[in-house]
Amino acid sequence: MSFENLNSRQQEAVCQLEGPLLILAGAGSGKTSTMTHRIAHMLEEGISPYSILAVTFTNKAAREMRERVEELAGDRAGSMWIMTFHAMCLRILRVYPEEAGYEPNFVIYDGTDQKTLVKNILKENGISDREFAPQYLLAVISDQKEKGVDPEQYLETMENNYKTKAIYLVYREYQKRLRQNNAMDFDDILLNTVKLFERNEEILLRYQERFQYIMVDEYQDTNHIQYRLIRQLADRHRNLCVVGDDDQCIYQWRGADIRNILDFESDFPEAKVIKLEQNYRSKGNILDAAYSVIRNNRGRKSKKLWTDRDSGEKLRYYRANNDHEEAAYVARQIGYMNRAGRPLTDFAILYRTNAQSRLFESALSRDGIPYRVLSGMRYYDRKEIKDIMCYMRLVVNPKDDLSMRRIVNEPKRGMGDKTVEKVMGFAAVKNKSLLETLSDPEVQDTLPGKAYDRVRELTDCLNLCRQERTNLKVSDIYDRLLTKTGYLPALEETGTVESEGRIENLMEFKSVIYDYEKGTENPTIEEFMEQLTLAAEVDNYDEHQDTVTLMTMHSAKGLEFPVVFLPGLEDGLFPGNKAFDDPSGMEEERRLCYVGMTRAKELLFLSSAEERTRYGRTEYTRESQFLRELDRRLVEGDAVYQRKTGDSSLGVSTGSRDGYAAKPYKPFDALKYARYSTRQNAMKNTESFAPGDRVSHGKFGEGMVLEATDTIVTVAFDGAGVKKLALGVAPLKKI
Ligand code: ATP
Ligand code: MG
Repeated sequence: MSFENLNSRQQEAVCQLEGPLLILAGAGSGKTSTMTHRIAHMLEEGISPYSILAVTFTNKAAREMRERVEELAGDRAGSMWIMTFHAMCLRILRVYPEEAGYEPNFVIYDGTDQKTLVKNILKENGISDREFAPQYLLAVISDQKEKGVDPEQYLETMENNYKTKAIYLVYREYQKRLRQNNAMDFDDILLNTVKLFERNEEILLRYQERFQYIMVDEYQDTNHIQYRLIRQLADRHRNLCVVGDDDQCIYQWRGADIRNILDFESDFPEAKVIKLEQNYRSKGNILDAAYSVIRNNRGRKSKKLWTDRDSGEKLRYYRANNDHEEAAYVARQIGYMNRAGRPLTDFAILYRTNAQSRLFESALSRDGIPYRVLSGMRYYDRKEIKDIMCYMRLVVNPKDDLSMRRIVNEPKRGMGDKTVEKVMGFAAVKNKSLLETLSDPEVQDTLPGKAYDRVRELTDCLNLCRQERTNLKVSDIYDRLLTKTGYLPALEETGTVESEGRIENLMEFKSVIYDYEKGTENPTIEEFMEQLTLAAEVDNYDEHQDTVTLMTMHSAKGLEFPVVFLPGLEDGLFPGNKAFDDPSGMEEERRLCYVGMTRAKELLFLSSAEERTRYGRTEYTRESQFLRELDRRLVEGDAVYQRKTGDSSLGVSTGSRDGYAAKPYKPFDALKYARYSTRQNAMKNTESFAPGDRVSHGKFGEGMVLEATDTIVTVAFDGAGVKKLALGVAPLKKI
């Protein structure tokens, strides 16, 4: 392997294999690339892939790292543990479930499941969710779990009042239910592993012996538990290499502790520190501008990046009249550049809050620009996908009452709330799960007449799939669940456009399963479910499709794009309101701004809106503090037109007018669009269809249009029969 394209510091880091090593460096300085080369170098030196552990922040990062290592060192990387903290812990817990206090095949609850669980608990205990929002309770619970504080300890340490008692009660019940359902939440995955190691020296020793070389990327964003875990594992061989940038710690709100990186040298006094200062990603102006913002933070190790790339274009700043116009401006700029030959994959719009995406979506679709939104589990948040995933989970874990409650009457099986409650009563007495109880013929006999058959159909199918799950392909199990439980037939019977859309999504889901089956040696439904649950938001991102990317600045971590837009630079939005009461909050927002800016390779566009509607209220805004901090010599103003109040604080010229800006803004019917949008593929067709047209569809093959309205096309497919398809969603093309 050759390192000639690495600089001398990077090479030094690659060759330093023994002992603790801290690579501390700014954005785009090649930290991740260096770590990748380091792994390849180890393999080259004859170190077994089995003894290497590399921890990344997202699954996508892990996948990319594995691919890069394979490119450099051949396919020896195959069995190596390159994965996220959660995936790693889960792997370990799957080997020792009982030692960790669980039954094998425990399931993982994601955010939506957690919320449902808390809501149920509130309801059953007569606590109003207005008084205690489930989201708030979950944040408190997560915080406590992270600190290792259990419900009893929480009660003891907090002030003894009504609020404490309520939180205690919910926390205690929450933990109890997770246990009963043989389930873990995301915090548990990490916590249980740390506990397993604490209680079980032998198991810990096994992993300590195994992982002689440990590496952690994005170390600045590790939280306390992750930190403990790494310390446990690295304690024996102490060949720990961590890579990070204290300026990019953006997850403090989720418990990340910047001190983990600042204290590395005191934790490992023998540690060697390597700093990388050359940035290979961004043009000079972008880098200088990012620096002019981040240097306002106090608690940072001082470092300044340099680049030998030219300074490039100045940054652009645009202050729009209102938020709609801001979005229109961004879409227009992308349109210009795209027509001038830039592929759409070059562009990213990075915003502070998910809610901002909507306006950009409308503006882009109005201009006919394909885009994709990366936001938390969008696709998997859809009702039908959640439903079918519950069915699948029950195949894996019949104790999962939460899933059972969700689908027992979905589709309608005559199992109303009262009946379900009655059955839950039986379940409590017999100390069995809901599915087990409902599978009991005696219990079935007590069901109302119309429920009897359908519930049997459901329990028979689930139990059979479970028994047969090792003989059946995951896709076969999926098909059975869809049909034999009555789920798909019920949708087909409904026959509305909405249900057609749902059916299509369910079919789409099969491609997820096929992909999994193709890419895995021994596909199992257990593993499939696990991968789905772990799939973080960034994972749906496929760089090969020519679309603009929309995502939050948080999820853009580690990524790079030639052209980046950072909209919404207004006090109260970015930095958010809370930052103004709390200096450390302000510093975190500033780091986020730094992360956002340093994603850009060539062009960086900043913007704000004079008037913005949030939470249903329209307000005048003030330009962001970060704009005021920015070195204005590096920024060039675009048109600021029809300004109502004084000058922009950046002193940008108001002369040059963006020719299109004067067009009156025409609101887009977002609602109509949103209803049918799959978000990811919203632009698949804007073609219109007429009866008689021959068309082809991604799934159903070729056919003829029977009827077409503004929103729905009815097609007789040659093979798949007559289908109603939602325009703008269905992958339909004229042929
Ligand atoms: P971040 O802080 O954003 O995670 P990073 O420090 O991990 O960034 P990388 O993503 O590894 O940086 O690298 C940034 C870019 O610089 C990549 O496109 C990478 O290919 C390139 N790069 C890294 N090192 C070199 C080098 N020595 N010569 C040329 N290009 C390099
Ligand atoms: Mg990186």
